[in-house]
Amino acid sequence: MTAIDYDLEFLEDGRTIELISIGMVADDGRELYAVNAEFDQAAVRGHPWLRGNVWPHLPVVQNPPGVRGVDRLDLDDPAVRPRAQIARAVADFILAAGPEVELWANYGAYDHVCLAQLWGPMVALPEGVPMFTHDIQQERSRLGLPVGALPAQQESEHHALADARHNQIVRRWLAERGRSA
Ligand SMILES: [Mg+2]
Repeated sequence: MTAIDYDLEFLEDGRTIELISIGMVADDGRELYAVNAEFDQAAVRGHPWLRGNVWPHLPVVQNPPGVRGVDRLDLDDPAVRPRAQIARAVADFILAAGPEVELWANYGAYDHVCLAQLWGPMVALPEGVPMFTHDIQQERSRLGLPVGALPAQQESEHHALADARHNQIVRRWLAERGRSA
C-alpha cells in the first residue's frame, strides 16, 4: 500500500467548491504542488478568511509602491497552471503510486469532492483514482484520541503543500499509535 496525503485550498459558498491550490505527498517521496490559474481571484481577495490565511501563501505579483491596483496571481509562476493541466498531473501522480494507493486528508470531505471534480462528474473519475479519501479525523476518533492530541503544524498552515506534508506526519503518528494500542 502507498499512501498519498493531500490538502486542497478552495473557495466554497455552500453551493460550489472551487479549487485554489493542491498539495500532495506520496509515501514514495514524490510531491506535487499546483495553483489553479482560473479561480476567481476577486472572490478570494474579497473573502476575509481566504484573504488572510490562503492568499498570502500563493504566488502573487505585488504592485510596486505607489502604483494603484490590487495584487494578483503570478500567472508566470511554474506552480500556476490551468485546471485541466492540474487534473492530468494529479491523475498521473496518483496512478504512479500503483494499484494499492490510499488517499488521506484532514477533515477531508470537501477536499475529496473538489479533487474528484477536477475530472468532472463522479462517473468521470479516472480508473485507478480511489473513490474515497481516508480521514485523519476518523482515524483519530477510532483510536479514542482527542483532537488536541494530534501533532501541531509548525509553519505555513493553509499552504496546500505544507498542509499535505503535515497530514503525512499526523497520519504516520496515528499509525504508530494504532500499532501500540
Ligand atoms: Mg489547507
